[in-house]
Amino acid sequence: MTDEEAFRAAVRSWMSDHVVGEFAEAGAEGGPGSEHLHVEVRRRWERELAAGGWTCVGWPTEHGGRGLSLARQVIFLEEYVRAGAPTRVNVIGETLLGPTLIEFGSPDQRARFLPGIVSGEELWCQGYSEPDAGSDLANVKTTASLVEGEWRVTGQKVWTSLAHEADWCFVVARTEPGSARHKGLSYLLVPMHQANIEIRPIVQVTGTSEFNEVFFDGARTAESNVVGRPGDGWGVAMGTLAFERGISTLSVQLGFEREMAGIIETARRTGGLDEPVLRDRIVRAWSGLRIMRFLALRGLAGHEAGTPGPEASIAKLFWANWHRDLGNLGIDVAGPGGVIGESLPYELTAAQRSFLFSRSDTIYGGSNEIQRNVIGERVLGLPREPQVSR
Ligand SMILES: Cc1cc2nc3c(=O)[nH]c(=O)nc-3n(C[C@H](O)[C@H](O)[C@H](O)COP(=O)(O)OP(=O)(O)OC[C@H]3O[C@@H](n4cnc5c(N)ncnc54)[C@H](O)[C@@H]3O)c2cc1C
Repeated sequence: MTDEEAFRAAVRSWMSDHVVGEFAEAGAEGGPGSEHLHVEVRRRWERELAAGGWTCVGWPTEHGGRGLSLARQVIFLEEYVRAGAPTRVNVIGETLLGPTLIEFGSPDQRARFLPGIVSGEELWCQGYSEPDAGSDLANVKTTASLVEGEWRVTGQKVWTSLAHEADWCFVVARTEPGSARHKGLSYLLVPMHQANIEIRPIVQVTGTSEFNEVFFDGARTAESNVVGRPGDGWGVAMGTLAFERGISTLSVQLGFEREMAGIIETARRTGGLDEPVLRDRIVRAWSGLRIMRFLALRGLAGHEAGTPGPEASIAKLFWANWHRDLGNLGIDVAGPGGVIGESLPYELTAAQRSFLFSRSDTIYGGSNEIQRNVIGERVLGLPREPQVSR
């Protein structure tokens, strides 16, 4: 048995011993479109994983991780999905904030915040987008200033995933009055449990609320909770976005395998496999899944070499459209009954949730149009898009 095979066997054995009881019942629920499900169980699962040393497996050991190579992280994720383990609840902490602190944080910030992510005790949310700053993030209007040795943050964030569950938020705020665009922004770590923050859930087309509007009204955080130098937050914020395109993408895609398997099973039941057009679409979706995997691995290889390139945009554009199309396919293979709720008051079926939620795939993490701009300008060398004078 090679070392990699032994590693795979060790992960598989740990998962089969621990994905039991309430963890097995929660199963793969809790991903995009169903993040409201089993939150308490998934928080307990986070601690169970941590006790086994299976959180933050790609982080260096000196920061509490396992220092796994990319190949082993892929094996870990494959076994995780195969075991039907619960969907992680602190993806933002583990894959975005943690790596950002490891790269840009001070030793004190790492000592304060990384252990809470490794142990699964502290959940994080991402405070970037605002009503007028989404694709154009440099238009951030939220401000922060130092008052009596503390940052006071005022402004509105929007689409803040899981803000209602999070203990902390990393916020991009303007700290230099009169500054514009990328200059004068800072990257602040703000505790969510305080009176000066109001969280208003946004009800989605799925009927559930995974993201929120977050209003900061003089919200406080310690002066030391700025990552990088005050005013230099743009570089840190972009560093976080580069991590967003890393290994976490692969784990989302491995979840798609399970959805695909569910669709094939439904098609078998409803006779969809005998219907030539549906059959063709299923085969095309299956091929897309394979293409996606190679695109993701190619992108990750670039990451390991330290040069995440514009191929990340090709991969994002491909998987977002693929998944939206899979959502359509899931409804179509279910036949006319696929659009009917199961009982009253009705909970959407997994296929219905996927159909509705996958509309958002082409928006978050950089919309289709933004990815096409990146590919046009940085891959194909086309002229830059005309900028409206600001
Ligand atoms: C499910 C989900 C979860 C999210 N979670 C978070 C979160 O946790 N934290 C957070 O901060 N944000 C989050 N977001 C917000 C997300 O980052 C933004 O929705 C995204 O950046 C797009 O911004 P916007 O919605 O303001 O749209 P806009 O930027 O206003 O875009 C509107 C439309 O215009 C197009 N467009 C914009 N600029 C250009 C251009 N230059 N050329 C061509 N077309 C253009 C876009 O493609 C889009 O179709 C989430 C969004 C979703 C859908």
